[in-house]
Amino acid sequence: MVNDIIVVGAGVSGLTSALLLSRSKANTVTVIAKHMPGDYDIEYASPWAGANFLPMATAKHSRWERRTWPELARLVEQVPEAGIHFQTSRIFRREKDMQGSSCPTDPMFDRDPWFQSVLPDYKELDAAADPRGHDSGCEFKSLCINTAMYLQWLVGQCLRNGVVFKRAIISHIKEARAYKRADTAASPPAITIIINATGLGSLKLGGVQDESMAPARGQIVLVRNELHPMHTTSGTDDGTSEILYAMQRPAGGGTILGGTYDIGNWESVPDPNIALRIMRRVVDLCPEIAGGKGIEGLSVVRHAAGLRPYRKLGVRVEKEALDDGTWVVHNYGHAGWGYQGSYGCAEAVVELVNEIRVLNGQDLASEPK
Ligand code: FAD
Repeated sequence: MVNDIIVVGAGVSGLTSALLLSRSKANTVTVIAKHMPGDYDIEYASPWAGANFLPMATAKHSRWERRTWPELARLVEQVPEAGIHFQTSRIFRREKDMQGSSCPTDPMFDRDPWFQSVLPDYKELDAAADPRGHDSGCEFKSLCINTAMYLQWLVGQCLRNGVVFKRAIISHIKEARAYKRADTAASPPAITIIINATGLGSLKLGGVQDESMAPARGQIVLVRNELHPMHTTSGTDDGTSEILYAMQRPAGGGTILGGTYDIGNWESVPDPNIALRIMRRVVDLCPEIAGGKGIEGLSVVRHAAGLRPYRKLGVRVEKEALDDGTWVVHNYGHAGWGYQGSYGCAEAVVELVNEIRVLNGQDLASEPK
């Protein structure tokens, strides 16, 4: 007897959950999703991410990122085809951003951050290294993911473990039960468990309808120009929803210039004025990216916008028994840190699935590995 696991969602959260669950012989795993790697849609966040590793959790909630760093670093060192590389990250602070009510809450701007013992080579920069307009800064070893490659790599790893993928749109979470595996039909599964990794879809999905979800729109510019190290600043003078970051993806993936973090904005079309401000800010901070030619020196691949799955209450990773007894394990609401928390959250999904199995009388200690 095996457990029939249906993962709803093929973003980084669903795929990483499917990968870890498929490592156990006790589970068969099916992934169903409206969007799959290779698709580009405003409501499918994963392809739009930079994606880099800049800790955003407080020390108290840092488990997801602490647990993810070692695995992503291992992939950089041992699995080049996953499409991830190390890149030094420089963070710059302005005193005016660090004070008052608009002070950035991300711990990446802290002066004594919890992650200095996790991410290698952390150091405060001396004042001479800070670019114009910035008062202090720090540097550490981070990484950047070529998301187009990495999502496909995750699908490949899942397929290797026997995961089945299907395109489907469900309107109620219980509909996922219809995708139980045919090969377990003859011998009924021990339990059927649905993993809800629908990201922003959890706002409207029947049976979930989580009203604390909202889009946090991110507009970006992808350019061919190269940039090392990656840069992030504590604020800009263009409004609180406009931010500044730049990172180079590995394996010819281009350099991402960002951006915006605009909660409640669903607009799918990139705004040309915002695009201009994004490019100006990056070129002002690092003129070398454009060979000193200003934004004329940028070679644009595309302008784009994606919606981060923001959750006012923070990420939801928990199990829930529906009114008919169906078990759902939720893994959604990762806002702007879905990649850098992906393994930590997926590990927690496995733990919750195992708790449900124990509640259903399964003896985990005696099963084949
Ligand atoms: P998604 O990728 O949105 O996937 C949701 C899945 O659920 C999709 O397959 C969708 O089709 C499916 N689905 C939804 N509803 C239904 C339904 N009813 N029926 C069937 N299927 C359904 N993160 C980082 O870690 N580092 C970064 O540097 C970073 N930068 C970012 C920059 C931008 C501009 C953006 C937009 C995001 C960034 N993020 C970053 C955040 C990251 O992209 C997200 O946190 C992450 O992609 C969320 O993944 P997910 O799998 O939870 O959701």
